[in-house]
Amino acid sequence: MTVESEAVLRPLPLGDEVSEAFWDAAKAGRLDIQRCRACRRWNHAPSLACPTCGSEDLGYETVSGKGSLFTWCVLKEAPAPGFRDMLPLIVAIVELAEQPHLLLSTNIVGAREEELRLGMPLEVTFERVTEDCALPQFRPAREAA
Ligand SMILES: [Zn+2]
Repeated sequence: MTVESEAVLRPLPLGDEVSEAFWDAAKAGRLDIQRCRACRRWNHAPSLACPTCGSEDLGYETVSGKGSLFTWCVLKEAPAPGFRDMLPLIVAIVELAEQPHLLLSTNIVGAREEELRLGMPLEVTFERVTEDCALPQFRPAREAA
């Protein structure tokens, strides 16, 4: 029997029919979001039919990875043992740059609680949790060159 790493003590996402492409892209270091081929609206969380026009012709496209902080909360106690070394854990909703109210729940990394501001610019970064799983997370956007 092998010693389990801390990482596996965190619950891992389980892809399903509609979200599998999202997790596969994350594993490859891309943020891919579901998009309706009929009306071109972005859609997250992914669904079987477009919430705007009802079309079932949905695909995935890579987004910029830019967004802004929509809201957040800070966890001071670990929700599972694997989160202990991540405290305080910033759980956030990020509004992606591609479309108003295109919201994604995630964690903020690389920022202290006191630095957080509504609407602050963020960018995606990927945390490789296991060999088969990477989580899209967000950090403060670096200054544009
Ligand atoms: Zn649509």
